[in-house]
This record gives sequence, structure tokens and C-alpha cells, in this order.
Amino acid sequence: MSHLILISAPSGSGKSTVIKQLMQDESLRLSFSISATSRPPRGNEQHGVEYYFYTPEQFKQLIAEDRLVEYVEVYPGKYYGTLRSEVDRLASMGRNILFDVDAVGAMRIQEAYRDKVVSIFLMPPTFAELRRRLESRGTESPELVEERMRRASYEINFAEQFDHTVVNDDLKLCVSQVAKIIRDTISQ
Ligand code: ADP
Ligand code: 5GP
Repeated sequence: MSHLILISAPSGSGKSTVIKQLMQDESLRLSFSISATSRPPRGNEQHGVEYYFYTPEQFKQLIAEDRLVEYVEVYPGKYYGTLRSEVDRLASMGRNILFDVDAVGAMRIQEAYRDKVVSIFLMPPTFAELRRRLESRGTESPELVEERMRRASYEINFAEQFDHTVVNDDLKLCVSQVAKIIRDTISQ
């Protein structure tokens, strides 16, 4: 049986960095669920790699056709959602599926798939460090950094609803703690 691993964290906490390292551990048999989004690509992001990129009109069509397990307007006008076809594709390959979704989306996936799911919330060590990481990544304008900091204050309130919370202070330690949670889950 495929296990569904949900990872949420405020943007800038290092979630993508942690996920990239987890994906390299072949013993975890992880495949990444590529989400649909209506936000434009950032940096070198490509359609079908980091996300399936759609126009707002195309995204509305996905909703209308009920092709999403869940979707959230994470930022004003920017929608993100999990495609049913993506979950089915990876499950049919017998892979464990890793989701990078916001806290609200995570709770909805948890409801939809219940006993197959483990949810992990990654925390930045402090808000000051979160801001430093967002600014040092250099992919967001100052306005977008502020938008993400506001969203972080909101998202952190959901942490207690997750099965596990892990602080991403020392990267290596964080990756090993998350890997252990996944290993314990998939061995059940
Ligand atoms: P997210 O996917 O959560 O938005 P990223 O993985 O893009 O965040 O990380 C944001 C920035 O923080 C990147 O520049 C990354 O290199 C850095 N970073 C990630 N984890 C750590 C860590 N444990 N300590 C210091 N910097 C980190
Ligand atoms: P970013 O723009 O930084 O790639 O992602 C912004 C936020 O959207 C992150 O918190 C990320 O976890 C979330 N996200 C990405 N894909 C999905 C999805 O399919 N569903 C939901 N609900 N959130 C998502």
C-alpha cells in the first residue's frame, strides 16, 4: 500500500530543501506529488517538474470538472491544488507519495485518505530566521516577502493539528528526524 506523506511549512522555512534531500533516499520509495497552481513559474521552475502551471481560467476549469482532491487560494488570486490524476498515477506505481501542501490542504487530504496519511509540520526556528531565509532566497519582491510572513503567522496556528512537528534549525538534523518519521510510518 502507498503511504501519503504530507509536509507543510510556512514558505521560506526550508521545506523544498528538506524535500529534495528526502527524495534522494531511495529506501523511502518516495515520489513527489506535483501540484497544479495558477501562480506563475519562479526562477527556473518548469511545467511538470515543480508544478503543473495553469492560467487562472484553466485552474477554474479543473475545479469545475472536479479534478482536484483539494485546492486552496493560498495567496490572493493564486490557487494551488492536488490533482486526483497525480495521486492515482503515483499510487498505481506503488510509490509512497510526498505532498508539499499548505496547512489547510494538508487537513483536507488527511480527511480524504485518513489511515494512509502521516502529516508533518516543519517550523522555522524563529520568525526573524524565516524572514532572513525568504530574503536570502532572493526570489520574492519585498511585498511578496511581507505577504509570505503574514501567511506564516496564520499557518503556524495549524501546527498542533499535524501528527508531527519538526523544527528546521539544523538542516541535517531536521532531514534525519523527518526521514525517521517516514520510515516508521511506511514500515507499519
Ligand atoms: P520553502 O520551500 O519552505 O519555501 P526553501 O527550501 O526554498 O524554502 O528555503 C528557503 C531558504 O532557506 C533557501 O535559501 C534555503 O537554502 C535556506 N534554508 C533551508 N533550510 C535551512 C536551514 N536549516 N538553515 C539555514 N538555511 C536554510
Ligand atoms: P510556493 O508558491 O512557495 O511554491 O508555494 C506556496 C504554498 O502553496 C506552500 O505553502 C505550498 O505548500 C502550497 N502548496 C503547493 N501545492 C499545493 C497544493 O496542491 N495544495 C495546497 N493546498 N497547497 C499547496
